[in-house]
Amino acid sequence: MSASQPDPTAEPRTIAAGDDEALRPRHLRPPVDPATLTWRNLRRDAFWQRIPGWAEVDEKTFLDHAWQDRNAITSPKKLIAAVRDLVGSDFIADVEQGFHHAPMSVRITPYILALMDWDHPYVDPLRRQFLPLASQLQPDHPMLTLDSLAEQADAPVPGLTHRYPDKALFLVLDTCPVYCRFCTRSYAVGGSTDEVEKVSIKATRARWDAAFQYLAERPEIEDVVVSGGDAYRLKPEQVREIGDRLLDIPHIRRFRYATKGPAVMPMKLLTDQAWLDALTAVVDRGRKLGKEVVLHTHFAHPNEITGYSEDAMQRLFERGITVRNQAVLQNGVNDTAETMIELGRRLGYINVHPYYVYIHDLVRGTEDLRTTVARGIRIEKRLRGATAGFNTPTFVVDAPGGGGKRDVHSFEHYDRETGISVYTAPSVKEGRLFMYFDPLAELSPAMRAAWGDPKLRHEMVHDALATARQRTI
Ligand SMILES: *Cc1c(COP(=O)(O)O)cnc(C)c1O
Ligand code: SF4
Repeated sequence: MSASQPDPTAEPRTIAAGDDEALRPRHLRPPVDPATLTWRNLRRDAFWQRIPGWAEVDEKTFLDHAWQDRNAITSPKKLIAAVRDLVGSDFIADVEQGFHHAPMSVRITPYILALMDWDHPYVDPLRRQFLPLASQLQPDHPMLTLDSLAEQADAPVPGLTHRYPDKALFLVLDTCPVYCRFCTRSYAVGGSTDEVEKVSIKATRARWDAAFQYLAERPEIEDVVVSGGDAYRLKPEQVREIGDRLLDIPHIRRFRYATKGPAVMPMKLLTDQAWLDALTAVVDRGRKLGKEVVLHTHFAHPNEITGYSEDAMQRLFERGITVRNQAVLQNGVNDTAETMIELGRRLGYINVHPYYVYIHDLVRGTEDLRTTVARGIRIEKRLRGATAGFNTPTFVVDAPGGGGKRDVHSFEHYDRETGISVYTAPSVKEGRLFMYFDPLAELSPAMRAAWGDPKLRHEMVHDALATARQRTI
């Protein structure tokens, strides 16, 4: 133990009655230099004017949500046109190739594009998050499938997943304000790409009716996640319709609209009054009925949070709308304790509650973004205690095969050599074991070779399951 370890047998310090001197505050450590409280420094500069095509765009225009939509980067061609003068031709070729291999459609808001550091595009965390580079892609893990969470297997209606006893996930539409590389729903969201044909979960009347009918027929469901796609892309009438129909079902006690929107286009909450009012009306009606309606969002990196995010969150805060955050841990994006602590404090500062941090799911074409379970555990240890407990997220693995979210620490067995972790989910799928696989790039060369051999692969998986089974009986 280090020298600073206190002596646990020492007598406690006592203060004599009337000893005022002893009651004067004693700074046990010096006050923090305000310059180090970096999470409070939220950008309010005209950062978008660095993009040559937007050099003349003023703040009012940039904050217009319709302008953001109209100027979204929706193809590699548009991306290249926007940043051609800022990056080298090697980068352009790399990103073109990257998109060719990626299973996602392209869509980036001007807000996010402008927040990327175009002086250092290879390492910038936001670039890594949204733009695949061929030179950084890694072959997929051999145990990977496209719908790794088996959402379709647990779906009584296309796009409605009923996995947990009392809650359901309703994918109301298949478009998003951005397409994230890490998206688990790449089986469904966005258009089909060079690499992937998609399942259709379009916002159709018949599918919605079937979903509401199912929810009404299941008295055990109290909680619904309205996701997609992304609730930001719903029209105000649709926000209201979904909200009202869910509130009308007596046994539904709470639901959340899930949207990446606040992280990638905060200005919608500042300038799309109709959308904000629709959300507020549902929240207010819910409150009168004793039902909780909240917003769940996905900030992944502190650089996504600007003064505009603060203003947007303040709009929601004033209206009493709770916002919780779910982040995905991504290699080279936010997988250090420093970044996650900064993110957590910045979120806390703008009244967003960090709720979950996900270990990156096994998603096609994203091997370079995944991290090990061990790294998640290490970061979690540093985070816990850095700020309020309710602003400290739970780190979870969404168990491939439909086990649902499991606390990273709760594995039955974890072999850091093979990278296999095994979880149980007694309240979701009793008696079954679920495995997660660390990215191959983090394993030893010998182990990587072993994963390439079908016989050894089979043995490793078999052994891990056998060990876990012994521990659970
Ligand atoms: C994540 C998820 C939910 C909600 O789970 P919480 O732990 O309550 O956030 C519900 N259904 C499905 C299928 C999910 O993946
Ligand atoms: S916004 Fe959500 S649903 Fe859409 S691509 Fe990103 S993670 Fe997937």
